[in-house]
Amino acid sequence: MKEHHKKYDVIVAGGGHNGLVAASYLAMAGKSVLLLEAQDDLGGATASVQPFPEYEANVSRYSYLVSLLPDQIVRDLGINFRTLERPVASYTPFQQDGRDDGLLVSSEWDDPTAASFRRLTGSDREGQAWREFYGGIAELARRLAPSLLQPLRTAAELKSAIGLPDIWRQLMEVPIGTVIRDQFHDDLVRGVVLTDALIGTFVSADDLQANRCFLYHLIGNGTGQWRVPQGGMGVLVKELSRIAALQGVEIQRQSRVTALETGPMGVRVETESGSRFTAHDLLFAAAPQHLARLRGRPVPDSLEGSQLKINMLLSRLPRLKSGADPRTAFAGTFHVNESYSQLETAWTSARNGVMPQPMPLELYCHTLTDPTILSPELHAKGFHTLTLFGLHTPASLFDTDPVSTKTRAMEAAIASLNQYLLDPIESVLAPCQQGTFAIEVKSPLDLEKDISLPRGNIFHRDLDFPFLTEDEHAVGSRDLPLWGAETDDPHIYLAGAGARRGGGVSGIAGHNAAMAMLAKSASHS
Ligand SMILES: Cc1cc2nc3c(=O)[nH]c(=O)nc-3n(C[C@H](O)[C@H](O)[C@H](O)COP(=O)(O)OP(=O)(O)OC[C@H]3O[C@@H](n4cnc5c(N)ncnc54)[C@H](O)[C@@H]3O)c2cc1C
Repeated sequence: MKEHHKKYDVIVAGGGHNGLVAASYLAMAGKSVLLLEAQDDLGGATASVQPFPEYEANVSRYSYLVSLLPDQIVRDLGINFRTLERPVASYTPFQQDGRDDGLLVSSEWDDPTAASFRRLTGSDREGQAWREFYGGIAELARRLAPSLLQPLRTAAELKSAIGLPDIWRQLMEVPIGTVIRDQFHDDLVRGVVLTDALIGTFVSADDLQANRCFLYHLIGNGTGQWRVPQGGMGVLVKELSRIAALQGVEIQRQSRVTALETGPMGVRVETESGSRFTAHDLLFAAAPQHLARLRGRPVPDSLEGSQLKINMLLSRLPRLKSGADPRTAFAGTFHVNESYSQLETAWTSARNGVMPQPMPLELYCHTLTDPTILSPELHAKGFHTLTLFGLHTPASLFDTDPVSTKTRAMEAAIASLNQYLLDPIESVLAPCQQGTFAIEVKSPLDLEKDISLPRGNIFHRDLDFPFLTEDEHAVGSRDLPLWGAETDDPHIYLAGAGARRGGGVSGIAGHNAAMAMLAKSASHS
């Protein structure tokens, strides 16, 4: 046991991007901060790695696109990190009347997009519905996003401040499945809309949890635009680590917090290696389920993670059966077997313990927008990375036999994708040593083992709406405004994705926990 005598103002447990954001804000405000990270490396779910030793390809191993990170946090902390716009929002291949085609949606509405909707649906009606629906949401995003970095308001207060009652109702009050069925007629179009409600979220379209997921996928930074992190997600971690160190944050890796005591004077934590540290406050920037265990409290209920993440390096992009240029089709989100009915069937199947067939997927090619993650040689040879995100593959499917189920899941994902490819994906995977190929597969159980995501939940736990319910408001009425980071212990705050308004690569949870703590310490001084 090693007792450290220095008492810090704050200990931040967890060195994912939120922990680093929180630590930097607090150090900039003059607090002494110790950050304890369980792993060898910082970053948590925002890491870049070279998974295939033969190739210089820096892959965003877990999270891969950025939307939710507010410009304000980038400015406040001086983060030197660029994100790049994608010209294509999405491409969805389909087979209709024996022919292969695809629904192309450009990032800005244009003639090819309109023509694509017309070819799929036979008229302009669905395209018009699309523009109206997303136009309304864009306005809501613009008005709602700034509130994410302010103290929480009640639903009624926020609704009235935003002033778009119909769109508010559609997103917060009516199940998103009902809204989508009302607004759109085509099964494929409905599905493309629905996918944003199901990323990492194992529910039916008619569950309000899907609305929460949908909301966070459409309001990021006031635009909802998903952008490519230049240089990969690891650049954000590198930058945040640089800023934290510059501000004087003490960072200790390989320091998993394994015990926690609190009292009127503050907190004391113990790490796996037996070191003990004390501080006035603890910002817990890992999952709330881990905090509950450390405190000997009941673990909060949450959905399990439900996605398969596959990272690939390709020697070239595969050709499509539809004849579309793969450089266009893969430039945005490439949806596979994600019509509305396919998504609902996949959910029912997985709920009954059966791997969905066909598996609904979405793919993304980083290198079409940003080739800098490849060595110049690989880029010149036409290599590309491809990220596959499989939906409705919950952790429970993998429990009994994790290894062979992962193989089956990978095969199901590949079969689903190959339905639309002229060149089967196996034929373009970069070869590695001993007859293997450049493909790595992460099941929800791998995410739990590798980066401590409870049951592989990419948001740590169920997302919440970004406001207080009236009940919470009544219970929470105290002197200080609530930020969604507070716990029932005045010395402990939640600073990770599992805090209210956390989830995704945003830094919002880190910012808000730091603000809550600073507000409290200002009120005491
Ligand atoms: C496969 C995948 C794909 C995703 N894709 C996207 C995407 O494209 N865009 C997006 O916005 N979001 C995406 N997400 C979600 C997003 O990455 C996370 O919600 C977010 O990164 C969480 O950040 P965090 O800092 O709160 O927590 P984490 O990144 O989970 O970091 C928590 C850190 O705490 C450490 N830790 C855990 N327990 C302890 C302990 N007891 N003591 C000390 N340290 C501890 C962990 O090792 C980890 O480093 C994805 C997530 C996954 C897994």
